[in-house]
Amino acid sequence: MIRGSCLCGGVKYRINGLLTHALNCHCSMCRKAQGAAFRSRASAKAAEFEWLQGENLVTFYESSPGNHRGFCRVCGSPVVTRFDDARSGYCGVPLGPLDDDPGVRPEFHVHVASKAPWYTITDDLPQFAEGPVKSQVTSMPQIIHRGIKSLIDEANAQIETLSAVDAIKAAQDDDVVIVDIRDPREIERDGKIPGAFSCTRGMLEFWIDPASPYAKPIFQEDKKFIFHCAGGMRSALAAKTAQDMGLKPVAHMGGGFAAWRDAGGPVEQYEPKKK
Ligand SMILES: [Zn+2]
Ligand SMILES: [Zn+2]
Repeated sequence: MIRGSCLCGGVKYRINGLLTHALNCHCSMCRKAQGAAFRSRASAKAAEFEWLQGENLVTFYESSPGNHRGFCRVCGSPVVTRFDDARSGYCGVPLGPLDDDPGVRPEFHVHVASKAPWYTITDDLPQFAEGPVKSQVTSMPQIIHRGIKSLIDEANAQIETLSAVDAIKAAQDDDVVIVDIRDPREIERDGKIPGAFSCTRGMLEFWIDPASPYAKPIFQEDKKFIFHCAGGMRSALAAKTAQDMGLKPVAHMGGGFAAWRDAGGPVEQYEPKKK
């Protein structure tokens, strides 16, 4: 149970459950409503929010469609935000007026593009220019705060990317292993690079680590490993993982198998293993 109250003490309430999705919102509406650099808030299940006293003192202001910010009309403290859209099962709870430890801590900053110019964020929490994307807010309870774009951008900044043309040349070299991380059904459908070693992304770490019971000798060889997938995204993540594990040198092929084929690289059709 987490209790909260307004500044004048006229409004008291409690949350009979857990808070989730704690964050700091820097949007101009939150700044004005809190009179502060940002609003620290969390979500509660609407059914778990209970008035203890002073509900009649609370006025709701609809700051944007479907978003009703409740505040004490005597002292102005923000109390609870109600939603009458897809989020109606939840309510927004500002952390400031809580009297108990909410048990959650803000996990990121949102609407940083609207941040007050006089305030500098000094912590390491992730920052988002806008809010969490709408679908994530409305489809509570999961908010993905590191999406594939961020993961792939990070990988690309740390690994070597070869163009398909360069990969075609490199593949001639006996000291290069082309590692195909696509699923078997993709290889069956689209064919493969002759001589490429197939290692699904699912087994990647287990085949690379010599301490794993699944270790593959090929990853112990003193060679360069060029990862590829269908389009160049999964291979970026795979190459980064391999590099992080210590495999070297590694690279990945930008544009993946599609780029290889378009650049005139040789392709062989999949032949089912003979039983
Ligand atoms: Zn009050
Ligand atoms: Zn806001």
